[in-house]
Amino acid sequence: EKTSLTLLGLGAMGTALARTWLSAGHPLTVWNRTPARAAALAAEGARVADSAAEAVAANTLIVMCLLDDASVDEVLVDADLTGRDLVNLTTSTPAQARTRAEWARERGARYLDGGIMAVPPMIGVPEAGGYVFYSGSRELFERHRGTLGIPAGTTYVGEDAGFAALHDVALLSAMYGMFAGAAHAFALIRKEDIDPAALAPLLADWLVAMAPAVHQTADQLRSGDYTKGVVSNLAMQVAGTPTFLSTAEQQGVSPELLNPYFELMGRRLAEGSGEEDLTGVIDLLVR
Ligand code: NDP
Repeated sequence: EKTSLTLLGLGAMGTALARTWLSAGHPLTVWNRTPARAAALAAEGARVADSAAEAVAANTLIVMCLLDDASVDEVLVDADLTGRDLVNLTTSTPAQARTRAEWARERGARYLDGGIMAVPPMIGVPEAGGYVFYSGSRELFERHRGTLGIPAGTTYVGEDAGFAALHDVALLSAMYGMFAGAAHAFALIRKEDIDPAALAPLLADWLVAMAPAVHQTADQLRSGDYTKGVVSNLAMQVAGTPTFLSTAEQQGVSPELLNPYFELMGRRLAEGSGEEDLTGVIDLLVR
């Protein structure tokens, strides 16, 4: 028998999640602050609750996908959470998730936090590779794993409720670094007779080829030996940075995205770490 569940929040993401449970045959109760957003789902078989409290009373498993942590407070203000299995997919910080887990425990609920590594079109499309990080109650994760796995893959990262948010932000932070690098690359060719559509595949392939370097970084962090397996040492890389900065200047491009990383590389070199990889930069960041 398919687990019956409640979903609070029918924004772009909530609606995508709801559809996958409905089409998989899970009895679903939904609630949204703006009731109009529930109409299409009602036609697809969802039961629409008149209030969040009523939606929470309808099932043991309660999934939330609201805008932010403050909206979770507003929505659950007068709901009885006793005996509920709360799964919060609302994006939050690790500290917010930990506080929310404690808040749920005080109200008699079990708690699992989630960080969604997908955009709505990837939900319900396993080939798209989207998944959700989960952390908090392992027991709750194991119990609902099947149901939670319907919209997207599931990756459990620990009992600490803050770890899902931490993994989510870590991956997205790396993504922004990649986007920043790509922005600089496109800026360099902007005034030239080079088709951005010709650069794009070269850029994508290069980033994919370089990405596995993170495994060596992890290996060096674990061993504490940042010279292990070094191919291009820090001294050589710092010697190369003027080429990047001069090229930016020649192309009329601001170096403001490159500078912060180059400054960190220079500082690490000044500490006498010329034979190392770039891994030492991480130690300069951790305060
Ligand atoms: P939307 O802006 O589309 O929807 C926001 C939802 O939150 C709506 O249901 C809205 O209700 C509700 N809401 C906002 N404020 C309140 C409030 N004060 N009280 C009650 N309900 C409130 O956002 P998404 O659906 O895209 O995102 C939902 C969560 O999923 C966010 O935490 C987001 O970070 C996360 N996420 C989204 C991704 C995406 O690409 N969209 C990707 C990964 C994570 P109403 O309809 O009444 O406005």
